[in-house]
Amino acid sequence: MVAHAQQAAPPFATTKVDGTDNVYVFRYGNHQAMFVVTSAGVIATDPIGYGRPQAVTTYVDEIKKVSTQPIKYLIYSHHHFDHIAGGKPFKDAGATVVAHRRAQERLAVLKDPHTVLADETMDGARTITLGDTTLELTYVGLNHSDSSIVMRLPKQKVIFAVEFIPVGSVPGRGMIDSYPLEWEESLKRVLAMDWDRVIPGHPGPGGRLGTKQDVQNLLTFLQDASAAVKAEAQAGKCWDAVEKELKLPKYESWPGYAQNLPYVLRRYCALWGRGT
Ligand SMILES: [Zn+2]
Repeated sequence: MVAHAQQAAPPFATTKVDGTDNVYVFRYGNHQAMFVVTSAGVIATDPIGYGRPQAVTTYVDEIKKVSTQPIKYLIYSHHHFDHIAGGKPFKDAGATVVAHRRAQERLAVLKDPHTVLADETMDGARTITLGDTTLELTYVGLNHSDSSIVMRLPKQKVIFAVEFIPVGSVPGRGMIDSYPLEWEESLKRVLAMDWDRVIPGHPGPGGRLGTKQDVQNLLTFLQDASAAVKAEAQAGKCWDAVEKELKLPKYESWPGYAQNLPYVLRRYCALWGRGT
């Protein structure tokens, strides 16, 4: 037991992105968010406080360790509570909360007691300029959600994209409410943007960041899974036969393959075998 505890990853970590002097990743458990220190304040993203308000106070404390600048913005990557619940300490610190219009519409209906509504919304694109730093927010279409924003730092060539680009691993439970056909198109839009590294919303294998090759690999995976299920679905094999028997051996070595493949197959059965 003791040996196990010693090997476990620390509950949280703050890491500066290599090759930058102001871009950080804050990880708490298996979630992470980007924050950027500018000459005129800090731009934070996703409070990642679902069911654990201490993650958010830790996040704010970690920012204060690397900057005395005020926190000016809190930007939501998309509307899912596991990434955006718990933002009140940021709001209390004076941050302006920004989200995609569709995220705000959902939050306004659901009134989750732990999730702060946005102060400002964006739709297609918005550029935030703070001090010496430019951050571009771009909606690239439906994918993992209907409110996912790509956050791009053009000077650093770094993007922050949450859950619709799972780095080097098979997407899982979150397939349930995704938009699989449009997702492929959104990945092509991301590939066409100018960037070198992607910070994912869940740590990649070994904690690494992603590359355009990871995005291309994911796109190929989704296309392969879609084509395989399409053939089975049109032969009348959805749901059970596909979920129990269909395999994609090319991807066996990807983390999450065994556990997550049924979620992927179920989503594509809904598409090709049900029409949704
Ligand atoms: Zn999500």
